[in-house]
Amino acid sequence: MNYSSILNHLTNRGYKVSATEFCLFPALSIECSVAGYDVTLIHLKDEELTAMPSFFLKSPDKYGRIAHTLENKTLNVASICVNVPDSVSINFEVPERAFEESLKRHISLLERGLSDSKWNEEELLREFLAGWNHIQDQKYEDFLCLSDKGEFELLNILPPKKGVKYGLNACHFGIPQEFKQKPQFSVINDHINNRGKPKGIGCIVPLEKLIPAPWQSTDLEEWYLEILKFISQDVFESLTRTLGQTRDHAFWLVFNADTPSGKTWFGIHFHLKNNIKSKKGLPLNRELLEFWELKAMNVRLFNKERVMPRSGAIQELQNKKVLLVGCGSVGSQIANQLASTGIGHITLSDPETFSLDNLYRHTLAAHYISWPKTWGLQTELNNKYPWLEVQIMFSELLSLRYENVLNTFDLIIIAIGSPTQERIFHDYCIKNSVETAVINTWVEGYGIGGHAVLDIPDTKGCLRCAYVDPINFSRGLVSNLNFLKPNQILTKNLAGCGNAFLPYSNLSALQTALITSNLAIKFLMGQLHSSSKVSWKGSDFDVIQAGFQVTDRYTQFSKSLEILPLLNSGCDLCND
Ligand SMILES: [Zn+2]
Repeated sequence: MNYSSILNHLTNRGYKVSATEFCLFPALSIECSVAGYDVTLIHLKDEELTAMPSFFLKSPDKYGRIAHTLENKTLNVASICVNVPDSVSINFEVPERAFEESLKRHISLLERGLSDSKWNEEELLREFLAGWNHIQDQKYEDFLCLSDKGEFELLNILPPKKGVKYGLNACHFGIPQEFKQKPQFSVINDHINNRGKPKGIGCIVPLEKLIPAPWQSTDLEEWYLEILKFISQDVFESLTRTLGQTRDHAFWLVFNADTPSGKTWFGIHFHLKNNIKSKKGLPLNRELLEFWELKAMNVRLFNKERVMPRSGAIQELQNKKVLLVGCGSVGSQIANQLASTGIGHITLSDPETFSLDNLYRHTLAAHYISWPKTWGLQTELNNKYPWLEVQIMFSELLSLRYENVLNTFDLIIIAIGSPTQERIFHDYCIKNSVETAVINTWVEGYGIGGHAVLDIPDTKGCLRCAYVDPINFSRGLVSNLNFLKPNQILTKNLAGCGNAFLPYSNLSALQTALITSNLAIKFLMGQLHSSSKVSWKGSDFDVIQAGFQVTDRYTQFSKSLEILPLLNSGCDLCND
């Protein structure tokens, strides 16, 4: 980068800039007056401008604690976080402008921090966790707190497994003593059972007020004594009665407090100093604190109230029950997609086992070969989603014709690709007034497209609407949604009788699953009030190559992915 033009530009703009060295690195030094203080900012020279240029504050101790700065004791500088996201586009072709702009931002941040003490204090609280992480022992593993409330509560502590570097086994677990995790087959329970007996105790301590995080890790003891004043009398008494009376060589305190950026959680690990031989109670005053070594620890909440919304699930779907019939290429994708939205209960039904012929268009891994598909999927889903209940059945669609069972679900999704069985099942639902909505979904071959039909009982439109013959309005045998003309032999056959299959890729299955899951979620969220249909239209390249023909619907269709009304005016059931 051409630093002489940058230097000239900044000088012309009235800054006192000089080329210098900082810790043997070439640097720019800028002297300025900020809120009545003489301030020196240092910029370490870069080869290339790839982000907003940054400036360090020299000798930060002189100014007291300024929000959005982090001190580096060794170098006697503080970094200044002007918070420019990566998404801000930098004009790297005119770097002097970027320098001027960035310098302005740095100075105005310091100006505010130095002149507006109320703002400064508030910002220090807002960035509490950044400050806490700064003083945290880098070797200390993550502490996962499984509590779902912020009140005083005793925790059993499971320390990390020895020698484990990655995964949940590398984390501390803090588990409420009255812990009951549902569903029973959850990765959490699995984990807790495998870890063995708790190795220590701790507790959750709500604070009525919070002060900025300690500036340095050596300030932690004083800071802790200060924070004891912000524990309510009730909680302090409980703490004295429990951990204060328990003799041990270690304790874990998990604090929470309200900050301008929401409820903040953090922790302190107490460990008896090496020369102290006899176990002691949790130190709650200066005198007792002498025996202990304190370490700041990072607390992560591992409960559904926190994890689900934060990681993109919809909590309102937790109480929804879905029956998914068919766990093939489309069905297995749907199962994963539904689970990822936050649905709480999924029942899978499929009589088939997973075979090598399924491998490339199925979500299951090769080690599930010869497993029942439902069982493999259940195992995978349980591993991934801690708050999902998965039940399995090995029934075909037509063996599920029990209205009492069907009526217990909020939605039934059928992904078996058999129009005949699907229409027979539909007839059963009509005759027995099954109240649950049903989605039928299928993929067509050769990448031409896929479809999903949502039949909500007692609303306009039904599955039969999707089977009205477009020519003579009679009940058709193939769906009028299809993009491939009927009566073409579309299946391929590699090994003789019973081995015919429809050629389509996993990508086609995925697309079809996506329109289906989207339709399902919109329905479960109460956004659809009448029966609907949706299709995705792919290219006809492979169809033409293979010498097949497309329908008029394909040629005219321009509403890919749009949810459309299902009602067909020629449907005899809907026009009774
Ligand atoms: Zn109809």
